[in-house]
Amino acid sequence: MKIIKAKYILSMDEDFTLLKNMAICFDKKIIDIATHTKLQKKYPDATLFDLKDQILMPGLINSHVHLEFSSNRAELKLGSFVSWLKSVIKSRDQLLAKCGTKCIDEALKYILESGTTTIGAISSFGLDLNMCAISPLNVVYFNEVLGSTPSAVDIIYSDFLQRVQESKKMSSSSFIPAISIHSAYSTHPVLAKKALELAKEEDMVVSTHFMESMSEREWMDKGEGEFKEFFESFLPNSSPMIKPLEYIELFKDIKTLFTHCTKATESEIDAIIEQNGSITHCPRSNRYLGCGRLEIEKLPEFHLATDGLSSNNSLSLWDEMRAALMLHSQAPMQEFSKRLLKSVTLNPAIALGLKKGAIKIGYDSDFILVDIPEGLEDEDDLALSLILGTNRVNTLFINGKKLNRD
Ligand SMILES: [Zn+2]
Repeated sequence: MKIIKAKYILSMDEDFTLLKNMAICFDKKIIDIATHTKLQKKYPDATLFDLKDQILMPGLINSHVHLEFSSNRAELKLGSFVSWLKSVIKSRDQLLAKCGTKCIDEALKYILESGTTTIGAISSFGLDLNMCAISPLNVVYFNEVLGSTPSAVDIIYSDFLQRVQESKKMSSSSFIPAISIHSAYSTHPVLAKKALELAKEEDMVVSTHFMESMSEREWMDKGEGEFKEFFESFLPNSSPMIKPLEYIELFKDIKTLFTHCTKATESEIDAIIEQNGSITHCPRSNRYLGCGRLEIEKLPEFHLATDGLSSNNSLSLWDEMRAALMLHSQAPMQEFSKRLLKSVTLNPAIALGLKKGAIKIGYDSDFILVDIPEGLEDEDDLALSLILGTNRVNTLFINGKKLNRD
């Protein structure tokens, strides 16, 4: 059992409560919150950590990352979604071959050093399975399925099922197998339905990409645009396989993260929210792939994620928050900064079905210690100052275990 006494504790509850000169007592979960004198009296055997110049806050949660593409530097073409997709297909084998154990290990280490304690790893091939399972990070491991050829559905499904089984063997309190349906344009509805049946049976959380680009919008609505040429290069007379609202409905009664939604209509967003789906926002990936801006001011909540290095230049959520501040230039700075911190802690925890992301009794003990911004006078500036000034985190606790950098 341990006690941490801190000048500030950012509880990240609904009201963004800032606890001052308080302490928490914890093992794997948070047991108690009070002054340190009270806690020391109540739990005399606990080890005490006294944080003088640091803030205790929940570890960050990156709900959408593709580790298998971590070797990308400049191989993939940014700027337009379909050109990027073509470059992924062209360079995929070369990028995967370059991303062995060392490359994935480096990506995971970087994620940890930047203060992220939980990730949602979207895995296309299962190449990152062992590294994710042995990492100190908490991992929700999304086995992804995609394929649009009706005759190949059974073969694709059996390969997917095998990956799911392999991931289930690694299952633990910090490694949670899950399912990803790639997208409405790439996954045959029969295949999606089969995978979603499994998700229901196994009570697994699900992730999907949805309405990421204008090309996807044009294709799904009218069977036209850049996707038409793209699909017809594989199969003449291709047409969209499902209507967007019908696609959303496939995920009814399943805890689902809909990623991107930059080109989703109001009625699609409403349908997602109505069936308790959540929206993952990847501002840098959207900008780098020419997909526009998600109008977050129209959303009740969202959670921020980096996506993979296939469409981003770092896996740091601090970098992502700074980018979000720039992309959403209409948002008031102080209030938006608080919303952003919530979008990388409590919101993704709720989306992933985890009792994390807030300093509350009974929640998992995933914390980071960050420096108090030097010279901070107005506490209302704290969230913004943290976002602007934090890059690396020296000390993390994951499930109550202390991890030091290096
Ligand atoms: Zn993605």
